[in-house]
Order: sequence, then structure tokens, then C-alpha cells
Amino acid sequence: MITVKHLSKNFGNLVVLSDVNLEIREGEVISVIGPSGTGKSTLLRCINLLDRPSGGSIYIDGVDILDAKTDVPKIRQKMNMVFQSFNLFAHLCVIDNLTIAPIRLLGKSKQEAEQKAMDILTLVGLAEKAHSYPDELSGGQKQRVAIARCLAMDPEIILFDEPTSSLDPTMVSEVLSVIRRLAKEGMTMVIVTHEMDFARDVSNRVMYMDEGIIYEEGTPQQIFDNPQKEKTRAFINRIRSIHYHITSPKYDLYTMNAEIEVFCEKQILPLKTRKNLLMIIEELLQMYKPLLLTAALDMTLSYSEKQESVELVLESSGVAINVLDNKQLPVESGLRVIRSMTESIAYQRVNDRNRLTLILN
Ligand code: ADP
Ligand code: MG
Repeated sequence: MITVKHLSKNFGNLVVLSDVNLEIREGEVISVIGPSGTGKSTLLRCINLLDRPSGGSIYIDGVDILDAKTDVPKIRQKMNMVFQSFNLFAHLCVIDNLTIAPIRLLGKSKQEAEQKAMDILTLVGLAEKAHSYPDELSGGQKQRVAIARCLAMDPEIILFDEPTSSLDPTMVSEVLSVIRRLAKEGMTMVIVTHEMDFARDVSNRVMYMDEGIIYEEGTPQQIFDNPQKEKTRAFINRIRSIHYHITSPKYDLYTMNAEIEVFCEKQILPLKTRKNLLMIIEELLQMYKPLLLTAALDMTLSYSEKQESVELVLESSGVAINVLDNKQLPVESGLRVIRSMTESIAYQRVNDRNRLTLILN
């Protein structure tokens, strides 16, 4: 359906894509993953002709879309793109957002376009919002409208550019559910995403992008469980941990908790582990609070699938101090809570830094 050969793209001196080759067959769901800045959006934008490639070729159903003679609007209609930031028409209500392009570009009658729009809105669970305006909707609803607007054009393929990354954690799943449903119905899709569990179970193939190329590709099992190349491996391992650099006692505990919950969900940790983890972190940060006035704290939370354990590492600079063993800090009750929920606690002085490692039970 889509064949990309030796695609390159530079912005001035910056080479973003150096030699991208890929083939997408009908009905495939492909996830594109990789560190930010590696050209994932640029690749989608080139395929959708929003950016002009610097070299190489792109064929859609055998047609060279970079050929000057190609009917670009017609090609665009076969492909539609969903953006991170929704890009809805703010001055149009939901149903008008869905009907404007089919009426203007496909020549559909208003009635026909509205009938179809209502069917699609029902599919994405938003029939009730047909006459609302985008700013009356939550982020998750807006993104579902954006997907619906795509579908209204009867695309053969949909390109998603991080469709959930500007959403509140609570709204991610409603959008992913809609995409899952499209996958089940056989829609061909390319999805740039950081939602690794989603990528794993929705896609036939996963492409890891780095160094301006498709650095490694394979089935979800191959890429997530057994990546062959070093950078892929490093990336996959890194997403199993989160890191915080806390520089003041006024850190935002609520945002942190929400992110940690999402992390736990992604790693499919039991609810009890999740609760214990949040409680331990809250107690620990309470203990670190006085120290935060003078020294920053680095906290890394990681999950090892092999050992099925959650590890929390806290590192602070400054004088040697173990917050769990400090008479000056009010630790008694907190310490008991932490002890009851951990399998081991170790304090080390490493490179003039205090490192506390806790393994949860
Ligand atoms: P990703 O989506 O993987 O995070 P992007 O494709 O957005 O990466 O960007 C890749 C690189 O290209 C980045 O370094 C970015 O700053 C640069 N870039 C993207 N678009 C432009 C542009 N229009 N002009 C100049 N540089 C750009
Ligand atoms: Mg991007």
C-alpha cells in the first residue's frame, strides 16, 4: 500500500531522515517508537506530504506521490493524519468539523455528510456531543473527534502522531480504545506512540527509529522482548523506568503521583504494589524535605520484568546522610511504613552522593 524508498529529509544542515525504507501493507497496524527528535513526526509528515522530502521516493498504491504530476489532494484523501494537538476547527461545532471536508472536497451533500458523521460519532462514543464546540470538550473527547473527522473522509490509511501524548493520564485509555477498535476493523494505521503496552498489543509490526533510519523493526515480541541492536535495547530498557530530579521542597506531588500511577499501569503492577509505592514515595519525600532546601534529589523508579521487582533509588548530594537512619529527622512512623513494604533497603555512599536503594516486596 505504501512503499518508502531511501527517503531523506534535512532542515538546512540538520539531517533528520537519512535513508528510511519501509513497506506498509493493507490492514497492517504499525507502531513507530523511538526517542524524541529522531524524526518520527517528520516521517509521517513526509508520507502525508506536509513536508517535502529532500530525497527518495514514496509510492501509495503504486503511484509515486512525489511526482509533480500526481494529484496531491486526491492522495491526501486516501491518507489522513491525527495530530498530538487535535487541530480541530475551534469555530465549528463537532459535526461541522466532521462534515466540512467531505462536503467541500468529496462533494457530498450536507445531509449525506451529516448522516455519515453521526454514524462515526456514535462509533467513537460522542454522538451526544455533535453540537458542542471543541472548547467544551475534554482532551480525550477532542482527540476522539479528531479521529472521527479523519474517518469521515473514508481514508484507506490513518497516520497517528502521538495521539495521546498531550492528554491527561486519565484520558489516554478512551482514545486508545477507539484506535484499538479501528485496528480490529482492519484499518491500516501507522501510529507514532510512547504507549508501549498499547504498541505491543495493537500492532503487527513495530519500527524503532533512530539515527535517521528505521534502526530496527520486527514483531512486537521481537522488539520489546528481544531487541537485537544496542540502541533499541537501551531505549526499551529505559522506558521501564522513570526518573525525577527534584530541586525544591515545593515539587508537585500530585503530578508525580499521577505519572507514577500511569507507569505502574503500563508495567501492569498489582494495585497493592501501586498503593504501597505511592505511600513509600510520599513518606520518603517527607523525610527528604529538609534536605531539599540545600540539595537536589534524584529519584529513579524502575521495574524489572525478569525479577518482577520494583526498585526505587534515591540519590542526593551533600554531606553523608541516610535519611532512614537520622536522629534529627522525624522518621519513626514513616520508617515503620517503609520497612513493612520493602524487601530490602540499602544505603551507600557513592561518588560523594548518598544512594538509598529500596526493593519493594
Ligand atoms: P520526533 O517526532 O521523533 O520527536 P521530529 O520529526 O519532530 O522528531 O523532529 C526531528 C528533528 O527535526 C528535530 O531535531 C526537530 O527539531 C527538527 N525539525 C522538525 N521540524 C522542523 C522544521 N520545520 N524546521 C527545522 N527543524 C525541524
Ligand atoms: Mg514527534
